Amino acid sequence: MIAHVYVHAPFCARRCVYCDFAVTVNRTPAGATWLAAVSREFGTLRAWGDAPLAPELDTLYVGGGTPSLLDPRLVGRLPAALGRGNRNAGPKRDGPETLEWTAEANPESFTEAVAREWAAAGVNRISFGVQSFDRATTEWMGRLHSPSDAEAAVARARTAGVDNLSLDLIFGLPDTVSRSWETDLHRALDLSPPHVSLYGLTVEKGTQLFRDVTSGRTPRPSHARYQEEYLLAAELLADAGYEHYEVSNFALPGFASRHNRAYWSGASYLGLGNGAHSFHDGRRWWNEREWEEYAALVAQNGHGRAGQERTSPKRSRLESVWLGLRTAQGLEVAGRSVDRVVRRWEARGLATRDDTAVRLTPLGWLLLDDLAVELDLALQPVAHPPPVDAPADRANLST
Ligand code: SF4
Repeated sequence: MIAHVYVHAPFCARRCVYCDFAVTVNRTPAGATWLAAVSREFGTLRAWGDAPLAPELDTLYVGGGTPSLLDPRLVGRLPAALGRGNRNAGPKRDGPETLEWTAEANPESFTEAVAREWAAAGVNRISFGVQSFDRATTEWMGRLHSPSDAEAAVARARTAGVDNLSLDLIFGLPDTVSRSWETDLHRALDLSPPHVSLYGLTVEKGTQLFRDVTSGRTPRPSHARYQEEYLLAAELLADAGYEHYEVSNFALPGFASRHNRAYWSGASYLGLGNGAHSFHDGRRWWNEREWEEYAALVAQNGHGRAGQERTSPKRSRLESVWLGLRTAQGLEVAGRSVDRVVRRWEARGLATRDDTAVRLTPLGWLLLDDLAVELDLALQPVAHPPPVDAPADRANLST
């Protein structure tokens, strides 16, 4: 049974310079069309038997894009669209029996009406795309909010009764963007968010940033700055009492994201909307990436599926190694060739090991992708992995 659902809301008022997500620029999105499309997609999957949802969902995540651009009443209708009652409605309850219902918001569109409607509907976790508290930096990114918008949005959420808040921050910017990362981290901490997510900037093809970097208008972000800022964040947030529970996520005790943990633990999940991915019973499938194509496909065929595959045992093993190493819980592994690899990592400060698991340090997380491949090779009966001797390079820390 599937207990975790992601719904993609693809609309943004403007595209940020670095963004290659499945979004469409539209300040006044056709929200009713969106809700009808994802509802119809779900109905088709249910008829196919591809979406055996648990009677009670554990997590529901509305991401984007910018869900706060939508008519806020539409987000509240999602449980009904999934054929589920809304056990978050009514008197507020805490604890694991409550649905963790997250919605993403950008500060400038998180109005009092959005805060009120979402809270009344049962949204109990809000993830804000803050990225920076420096106005020149958010302008460079192409974002529409000011630092005071971010602070006001956090206050609005709390006034509406939603305290489980996460702030997204971006690090590793090009050297020509001179904001102080340390100041940004302190500004975030001043707001006491229970959760912080870090995004390491990457230059993706097709983005404005890619064009600027390849034409020489903007210098390529440096590896040194990326590493320095990541390690500084890990240190400052740990000192402030946050658990670095996953490569790019930090939480005060009790506030780790249950939805993201489900992804990292290999649980089944259902993704609805354009560009969404799903995983269940060893099979993955994904939807058309562009909103217009997805919407046309759903209108025509009742679903937006673009492809599917069954995960091979080899790929499953590499994925479990990679997912295990992402988290502070680490990975339970044993064997002589594994011991050799892990001893090398420990000597370089990349990992620690105790009786139960191997865990990467923040320095190791910077090399996550390479280390996962190295450990996976060590787990193969006959393979002998080459050591990872290259200097610490960037891993893709975006989620
Ligand atoms: S707000 Fe987020 S999803 Fe929208 S364009 Fe910017 S980075 Fe992309």
